[in-house]
Amino acid sequence: MTVSQSADRADAIQARIRQLQASLPETVRLIAVSKRQPASAVRAAYAVGLRDFGESQLQEAIAKQAELADLSDITWHFIGHLQSNKVRKAIKHFPWIHSVDSLKLARRIDQIAAELGAQPQGCLQVKIVPDPPKYGFSVSELQAALPELDQLTHLRCVGLMTIPPLDTSPEGTRQIFEQVRALAEEINHGPWQRLRISTLSMGMSGDYPLAIAAGATMIRLGTTLFGDRQSR
Ligand SMILES: *Cc1c(COP(=O)(O)O)cnc(C)c1O
Repeated sequence: MTVSQSADRADAIQARIRQLQASLPETVRLIAVSKRQPASAVRAAYAVGLRDFGESQLQEAIAKQAELADLSDITWHFIGHLQSNKVRKAIKHFPWIHSVDSLKLARRIDQIAAELGAQPQGCLQVKIVPDPPKYGFSVSELQAALPELDQLTHLRCVGLMTIPPLDTSPEGTRQIFEQVRALAEEINHGPWQRLRISTLSMGMSGDYPLAIAAGATMIRLGTTLFGDRQSR
């Protein structure tokens, strides 16, 4: 890209963000998903006020964070599947993990966070309808895991996160988001000491208006803000 092309690109990103910000309710926190976008795209979004950025691949994220170290008030959100052997790195680089997708992973994050003296915030990734290719708790798995999740002392399970299966209809998507919200309310009425779900991380470029209508508190937007991603 030439210098003037990248300036045009920054202008386009900023125009899209300004337009979106004008339409978002104040209760919704916008996570800009910068995976497979260059550091310059993050700078452009930062310049118009965004401070929350989401990444799904650890190695790429850590390199980008190093390039952006001068932007010290960014909050980084990990949104991809996390392998157990990368938990330590993830905790060091991300205060938020939206993809706590199994009890085993939750235990591991809790254990390493204790060793590091960290208190990451986590969203439990839940699949409302079966979706074999995706990670996440089924509703019954999540319910069964609650007593143990409630005992964790360092991973703070503050949210639920969901990604509807590919090709779900708008009505199906709406129902999934509503069910996630109902599940959060059910958990919050349970006998738990620590668990308290105040975050609903749901809604991507293709479905975020439905997520907001259902009560999303965090939306994760990539292409709507930044345009197409670089291919791997
Ligand atoms: C890539 C990704 C997003 C953003 O997707 P867009 O369709 O580009 O908005 C949101 N959430 C997760 C978990 C992702 O992996």
